[in-house]
Amino acid sequence: MEPTKFDAVVAGAGPAGCAAAYALAKAGLEVLVIERGKFPGAKNMFGGMLCGSVLAQLIPNFWEEAPLERYITRHVITFLSREDSFSIDFQSPSFGKPPYNGYSVLRAKFDKWLAGKVEEAGAIIVPGLLVEDLLWDGNQVVGVKAGGEDFPASVVIAADGVNSLLAQKAGLAEELSTEYVSLGVKELIQLPSEIIQERFNLEDDEGVTQLFDGFCTRGMHGGGFLYTNKESLSLGIVIQLSALRRMGVKPADLLEEFKSHPGVRNLIKGGTVEEYSAHLVPNAGINKVPMLYKDGFLVVGDAAGLVLTTGITLDGASFAFASGMAAAETVKLAKQNGDPSRKTLCNYEKLLKESFVLRDLETFKHSQFFLDNPRLYTTYPELICNLSRGLFTNDGKPRKRLWQLARTEMGRQKLSILHVAVDGFLGRRAI
Ligand SMILES: Cc1cc2nc3c(=O)[nH]c(=O)nc-3n(C[C@H](O)[C@H](O)[C@H](O)COP(=O)(O)OP(=O)(O)OC[C@H]3O[C@@H](n4cnc5c(N)ncnc54)[C@H](O)[C@@H]3O)c2cc1C
Repeated sequence: MEPTKFDAVVAGAGPAGCAAAYALAKAGLEVLVIERGKFPGAKNMFGGMLCGSVLAQLIPNFWEEAPLERYITRHVITFLSREDSFSIDFQSPSFGKPPYNGYSVLRAKFDKWLAGKVEEAGAIIVPGLLVEDLLWDGNQVVGVKAGGEDFPASVVIAADGVNSLLAQKAGLAEELSTEYVSLGVKELIQLPSEIIQERFNLEDDEGVTQLFDGFCTRGMHGGGFLYTNKESLSLGIVIQLSALRRMGVKPADLLEEFKSHPGVRNLIKGGTVEEYSAHLVPNAGINKVPMLYKDGFLVVGDAAGLVLTTGITLDGASFAFASGMAAAETVKLAKQNGDPSRKTLCNYEKLLKESFVLRDLETFKHSQFFLDNPRLYTTYPELICNLSRGLFTNDGKPRKRLWQLARTEMGRQKLSILHVAVDGFLGRRAI
């Protein structure tokens, strides 16, 4: 018997694959999603905060049923020196109203829920199966091979995440070199909700994101993060892989060091580590976005490197949802035209160029170059912390004005006005 030919086969049931499959199934197309994890979400992790606005376009009122942890109403950025910390703290109750700002989310629960919506919409999801290869008819992709079986399709959507095997098999991408990916390691730390609320100055379901710059990466390109969940904290660090290799540091050691910093250890005090996970994330921005389509084939989400990292923002989920939805629009068009060739599929790139996806990546195209500057992780956090220490020190000696303290500290850090001017100029272009 001939195997069923699907309108689309989606490889990967992360946010990008699920968004594509949901939109297609809702439009009545025959969709198969193949996911290597035991269940969707089983192998997935992120920081993480999910921005609601894009998901709301796909599933209106999703917040009424999705397993969200907390509405993010408070954003903190903390600079760390070896012992000290200095924070910028923004809090607004208006930020917590659905759908527009962020929600803390645990991927194992959230992805499972999203995949359930995809099935409800009519798509078939097969978990525990790895897509191994593509099926070809000349230059046209006509399906996938998984578990030794063929799954024919008009269009294959590669939603298989960072370093996409399928984008490589299609000849669109190469494995990213280590400077273009970062490794994230994270612990999930259990803590009662009342303690979380009291400790972080939060009401009921409100949550906080806290990003850390400085000592936690030992000067390497990257940073630390903390997200409050209902009854746990997600605490971790993300570091450029090439820097990690160069320094020969174990990420788990860095995480332990981060946890014992005086500016962090009280935040997690009394907590119990429930889970440790690690995952890669692309960080090259638009510079490494591959060709996004070929005959019978589209690449979405992390598989296409569609992640925005500016040092302040790490947003991959919105980009995954938006690119999945654009891919679905394009597959619908291909079905309508009866033409899954690149002539129709180029519409996908057009949609991404019109949306925030490629526009944001273009706007922030200099951010990676800027973020490669070691002074951002050593000199500046040290300077900010030492300057604050000077401001708040009363040692019985005559006081100095702020600019005098700054001048002394710049001398100690061997930081010239020229450095500050150049870094300021690069920063203005980058973030
Ligand atoms: C440490 C860290 C922190 C982050 N923090 C945030 C954050 O706070 N906010 C945010 O928006 N983004 C964050 N991101 C980025 C975000 O997680 C990703 O951008 C997003 O998950 C991309 O979704 P995706 O569907 O493209 O890929 P993924 O979520 O990686 O999903 C890919 C899916 O494909 C499956 N798969 C892979 N290969 C195959 C195969 N051959 N066959 C079948 N299935 C396959 C995988 O099991 C997985 O389910 C973070 C990432 C990391 C690593």
